[in-house]
Amino acid sequence: MTAFQAIKRFFEPIFREPGYFYRMVGVNIFFASYSILSVLFIREITHILEVKNLEVLPKYIVLYGVFNIVFFISTYFVRQWGWAESAHHLLKMIHRDYMKRFDGLDNTYTENIGTGKIISIAAKGSEVWMGLIIDSISSITRLVIAIAWAIIILSNAGWMAVGIFFALFIIVHIGVHFLNSRSSEWRKKRVDTMNEYDRQIVKMIMSKFEILQNNRIGREIEVLDRHTDEAKIYNLRANDYHVAMFSLPSFVFFIITISILIATLHIPLSFASLVSMFMITAVLKETMVDSIDFFKNFTKQIYTVQKMWLLFDDAPKLTGLHEWEAFLFKKGEIEIRNLSFDYRWNHVFRDFSLSITGGQKTALVGLSGSGKSTLVKLIAGYLHPATGEVVVDGQSLNEVKLRDYYSHIGYLTQDPSVFDGTILENLTYGARSEVSETELRKAIELAQCEFIYEFQDGLGTEIGEKWVRLSGGQRQRLAIAKIFIKNPEIIILDEPTSALDSFSEEKINIAFHNLFSWRTVIVIAHRLQTVKEADDIIVLEHGTIVERGNHSELVERNGIYAKMLELQSGF
Ligand code: ADP
Ligand code: MG
Repeated sequence: MTAFQAIKRFFEPIFREPGYFYRMVGVNIFFASYSILSVLFIREITHILEVKNLEVLPKYIVLYGVFNIVFFISTYFVRQWGWAESAHHLLKMIHRDYMKRFDGLDNTYTENIGTGKIISIAAKGSEVWMGLIIDSISSITRLVIAIAWAIIILSNAGWMAVGIFFALFIIVHIGVHFLNSRSSEWRKKRVDTMNEYDRQIVKMIMSKFEILQNNRIGREIEVLDRHTDEAKIYNLRANDYHVAMFSLPSFVFFIITISILIATLHIPLSFASLVSMFMITAVLKETMVDSIDFFKNFTKQIYTVQKMWLLFDDAPKLTGLHEWEAFLFKKGEIEIRNLSFDYRWNHVFRDFSLSITGGQKTALVGLSGSGKSTLVKLIAGYLHPATGEVVVDGQSLNEVKLRDYYSHIGYLTQDPSVFDGTILENLTYGARSEVSETELRKAIELAQCEFIYEFQDGLGTEIGEKWVRLSGGQRQRLAIAKIFIKNPEIIILDEPTSALDSFSEEKINIAFHNLFSWRTVIVIAHRLQTVKEADDIIVLEHGTIVERGNHSELVERNGIYAKMLELQSGF
């Protein structure tokens, strides 16, 4: 990426609505003018004092006072209008954009990275990015104004002065750049360590009971401490360079001050110009220290933003969401051809082939870790094979518009999620058309969701993180009701009743059977009692099919299935 492209990418969110960019520039011009006008006022007043023109003195002092009051009052509005609003807008742009991008990321990729890491990088990245955009606009605007002003003032003292100023300016910046690049190595290490630290925190929060139960809090905190200690060391190393960096402008301005003082010995300077010169020097020094501070922060924090770019932008995308041909549903025939699939460190399927007849019920059984969930995710078009293809009704999922395909799929995951919102909103989340009252009641009844009516607000009950929390079994039944409401053509159920009592399970299985008897149903179940009536049972082991047939065939065969059945009915 060229420097120009990098800059464009960095400022892209603010340029989407340039109005906010101009606002921020305006705000900074406003603040920079305050220092300049103050110097001019003071110069005027000292001049008046010097020539003892006492009649106009009160007028100038009042004017200076009014100027300050007006400035401080306007600050409130200017900040509100230029900063608070722009910052909020920027953050909104970044979040909106990145959540959309997340939606479009390849699912294998996001599964491999893990939720904790994605949350930490995205949350920090967007916050930091917003801050950096605001800071860079303000820093660049102020620096430009300060330099322009210095040129105007110094040109009165001759072009020689302008030349010296620029030479010093460039020397300071080269020095800063050198020292900064030295320290940035250490800062990168620190950011990496702090990311590990965040991950540890996410882990500790998510595994509270596990930690409590095993009395491991001490150990977990030790890990946390190790990360902070490491980060401290890196910070100290980086700090060695920072001290030098910030001393540089002070040193240069010390020399300038001394030079001005010595110059007064040779060139008689008025009191007013001496005062204003020192004030200008102070303003310039402040601007320079600010810009160094910005430069340091920028190079330190851009790494966090780059991590977000890397995670989201340079990552494999979910292809085929909108592209390619529309998917045409026919019978729900599924054929898997020479498919291979790996997670980052796990080889799950190698040259795997399977065909599933449309309009019937296929059950997948096998020990945990044998690849059942992965297989149905591939069929659901959630994961994509590395090689080979999943063909549904003669159309390869590698070549159809996935959005179309998804509309025909009802995929119940092992751990169904609930969205913040009412029960009604949750139930109709996936509905393909308007849902009537009767359809809704029917689905609730079939999915054994009558518990809904026990809540005070019934269907209007707010559920989710902040509201009524549902039990695992209730969530599962709600998810089943959702499937009944969506009423899709291909139904994929990953242990749909694992959290239910056998009484509800039995009833729901009957409902599945009645409603979906002519649909393509693929179900994973560990309780073999529930797969008995499947038309086709597939036994998986380490990503290969080891047995296949209907219940009585498999029992007769007296292989793995028969053994599993025997073990289960023993209880
Ligand atoms: P099952 O559903 O039969 O228990 P899975 O399909 O969930 O099996 O898992 C198959 C293999 O893939 C297991 O070895 C598991 O450890 C691995 N696996 C599953 N999900 C992931 C993931 N997100 N990242 C890495 N490996 C995974
Ligand atoms: Mg599973």
